[in-house]
Amino acid sequence: MRTFAELVDLLSGIDGRGYGGYKQLKGAWGGADVAVVVDHVQGDPFATPSRVHVVVSEPTHGIPASLRDTPTRRAALTDFLLRRFAEVLPIREGGSGRSGEVSVDEGGAEILARSACGFEGGALHLRIRVGLPARGRRISGRQAAALMTDAIPHAAKHVRWSQLDQAAAREHVAMAEDHAHIAAQLVERRLVAFVRDGSILPRQSGVSSRPLAGAVAFESPPSLRVVLDTLHSGPVSGMGIPAGVTLVTGGGFHGKTTLLEAIAAGIDPHVPGDGREWVVTAPDVVKLRSEDGRSVVGVDLRPFITELPQGRATETFTTPDASGSTSLAAAIVEAIEQRATGILLDEDTSATNLLIRDARMQALVARETITPLIDRVRELHEQHGVSTVLVVGGSGDYLEVADLVILMEDYLPRDVTAQAREIAAQYPTGRTRSAVEPFESPAPRSPVRRSLDANRGHKQRVRARGLRELSYGDETIDLSALAQLVDESQVRAIGVLLRWIDQHGSEDATLGALVDAALDAVTRHGLYALGGVGELAAVRRHELAGAMNRLRGLQLV
Ligand code: ADP
Ligand code: MG
Repeated sequence: MRTFAELVDLLSGIDGRGYGGYKQLKGAWGGADVAVVVDHVQGDPFATPSRVHVVVSEPTHGIPASLRDTPTRRAALTDFLLRRFAEVLPIREGGSGRSGEVSVDEGGAEILARSACGFEGGALHLRIRVGLPARGRRISGRQAAALMTDAIPHAAKHVRWSQLDQAAAREHVAMAEDHAHIAAQLVERRLVAFVRDGSILPRQSGVSSRPLAGAVAFESPPSLRVVLDTLHSGPVSGMGIPAGVTLVTGGGFHGKTTLLEAIAAGIDPHVPGDGREWVVTAPDVVKLRSEDGRSVVGVDLRPFITELPQGRATETFTTPDASGSTSLAAAIVEAIEQRATGILLDEDTSATNLLIRDARMQALVARETITPLIDRVRELHEQHGVSTVLVVGGSGDYLEVADLVILMEDYLPRDVTAQAREIAAQYPTGRTRSAVEPFESPAPRSPVRRSLDANRGHKQRVRARGLRELSYGDETIDLSALAQLVDESQVRAIGVLLRWIDQHGSEDATLGALVDAALDAVTRHGLYALGGVGELAAVRRHELAGAMNRLRGLQLV
């Protein structure tokens, strides 16, 4: 390793030269306490900033091993460190292009494992982006020296244990650990989700993840209250939604969607102060929606749709342009295939004709081949172990099939199951259960590995375009229906994992097995080792499979 003094010399030597001279920076600089390692140098001042990582030795950072000795603790601690590091990073100073821009992949409301920070042999690695400074297209050596040998190492010293808010660091780790601890209890106690009393569920606005100020705090109905155990906060009480079929109903604007979205978000731990940090959802619960225009490849829709016009079969349904009902049916079957234990549906985003058909429509439309969810939702639970939480204000027919009916009124839930039963008995729906075949498990599907090749078309490309789109080879996968994706780094991770599957997945493996193998590689080697198209964050099997299922070029064996 060369010293910072040598780096200063080098930089003053190349000051004013062409930008390409920066290539000489590759390698490690600094001392045993803090080192700055240049991994990749950008081609010009306007390109994606250079990849650099800072290594802080274990004696220097001094962070207790007890905060980083399990995967959950490590993920939360590194998440915390990235946020603190981001706060003290140098502010950009003049120059052309992205000169002096220093950034780090810090999180939003969720606590996620990220490739941007980790421990290697006790040393802390912080992976950052640095726009190497330029005037025009010439090296700005003095500015670079200040940045690389002073400002960045200085910022790294702020994440030493002695400099951190230790109570906040411990709370951050405790939060993630209790989230995992509660999630494990949900699985044991056969609960879909837990919403602690006092939680603040609504957000400031549709585009903000900050809690809404002055919101009505959540309070469980007495009949649904459960007390769960935590590792760091004693017993906590709140609403437990049991496995089965749950209806969330109520008037418009009373908080139904807000509750469902909070439950969807409960798969991830949240930062203290988020308001939803004590909303915990079982790990394999997926929010689904209708998605006009999506691609569907070889999905067995027969549990919901037996035949399409002109006798088109639905046993291995493939279309580049699904409708509201076929896309939702496909999503439910895909969720079963990925071993989901629960699905979350909102009538606002679900095709009505897949949810329900009432007595009058049954009488009028003789040639209907859709079996609506209302006639499958019990089997979904009883035979396939998939619970449903459905927001529905518009159709009382569902009262018949629900185990639990929650009424949202002025943002507070009431358990109205008993009343719903009486009403169901008093006003028969008159509908008959659609004559249905048994609800078989979907046959496993095996992708043709070659069809996952990121080189299809032209040059290899894996790039996130915001949270909702992934450029993969020659196509753009629309991920906007995967509501539980929360971070652009997760989108990149999906791209990298698809490419991993293409390169390392075994031939003839099922889609589920390929997803398992890819996530297993993450567990064994870490996100960072998967290599790079930028910073990555942890993803679930459901979102990874969700992306594969939407790949238009996907082919099945
Ligand atoms: P619904 O789905 O029942 O029509 P929403 O969940 O969309 O209702 O909520 C309607 C509005 O009420 C939203 O603007 C939301 O932010 C707000 N809201 C939801 N829950 C609360 C709450 N607990 N306190 C205050 N406002 C809330
Ligand atoms: Mg709504």
